[in-house]
Amino acid sequence: MKKKILVIYTGGTIGMIQNPDTKALEPFEFKDIYSHLPMLKLLNADIDFKSLLPLIDSSDTNPDFWIRLVKMIGDNYDNYDGFVILHGTDTMAYTASALSFLLENLSKPVILTGSQLPLGVVRTDGRDNIVTAVEIASESVGDEPRIQEVCIYFENALFRGNRTYKANAERFNAFASPNYHKMAKVGVSITYNDNFIQKKEKQPLIVHTDLDANIALLKLYPGISTSLVSSVLSMPGLRGVVMETFGAGNAPSSEEFLSLIKNASDNGIVILSVSQCKDGGAVKMGLYGASLGLDKGGVVSGADMTTEAAIAKMMYLFGTGMSSEKVKYWLQHPLRGEMTI
Ligand code: ASP
Repeated sequence: MKKKILVIYTGGTIGMIQNPDTKALEPFEFKDIYSHLPMLKLLNADIDFKSLLPLIDSSDTNPDFWIRLVKMIGDNYDNYDGFVILHGTDTMAYTASALSFLLENLSKPVILTGSQLPLGVVRTDGRDNIVTAVEIASESVGDEPRIQEVCIYFENALFRGNRTYKANAERFNAFASPNYHKMAKVGVSITYNDNFIQKKEKQPLIVHTDLDANIALLKLYPGISTSLVSSVLSMPGLRGVVMETFGAGNAPSSEEFLSLIKNASDNGIVILSVSQCKDGGAVKMGLYGASLGLDKGGVVSGADMTTEAAIAKMMYLFGTGMSSEKVKYWLQHPLRGEMTI
């Protein structure tokens, strides 16, 4: 039996053409995927194709776009065995993270992919990325889908989506997942790394459709002014801050800085520390004296979460309407395999 796969096209380089006037790459609407990729007919899949309009450069991704996308997946969930999302690479890691939180009890594959070169270009990486993403979405073990979570497939590797970030704007292997193993490697055959693939009890899918974007991202740097920190923390309606700290979660020790942080926490703003180290490692509060001030100031540890996952998770948790205390708890505990504690 062929698997039924829904490919959802959202925009991005993969479907771009050059505007003859401006010479800039812009999304176009491609309706018939088989005319671009006839080899898809050879896979064990019946593919339907939908566009999420308007098509966007993924720089325009936002919570409203994520909610429209999860609604489309939810509306079609019972009719398909798996989903492949064609998406721009720039913010694909944010979208993968957001989808992972919004789709609770997901038990089918949702694989995001895209390309560094448009499908219309001879050397495009998009052709292999789509074909393999569909092949992975069609795989099963017995009666169950092999993959039951939100992933990114890109350049011969399958990643857990909420563990990734875009690491390169030039090479075909654009994504990195420093704190979690690849779920599959693709060469002559596809080698799945079963120890790193979630196995799920089947439960009804819950599609969450509320995200609260009243949060901020604050990246620390040597010399950061207290007026910058203070203006971020006094943003009207602010509920939470993802703070990118140094190394294993360290921050300046100045009284002024630490009292701004403590006052904000005391006033109910949730502050989550994630590490600026892109290539791996985790926040370990208290490992150095330089993180003790944050600990005393009520900052919580995001462990080895990426900034992308932390932002999506905070929007999701506040969107559920839970209390700040509960948000703090869940920020420190894994919900969808996004962190290791
Ligand atoms: N700017 C494009 C986007 O993210 C880049 C890409 O698709 O790779 O939509």
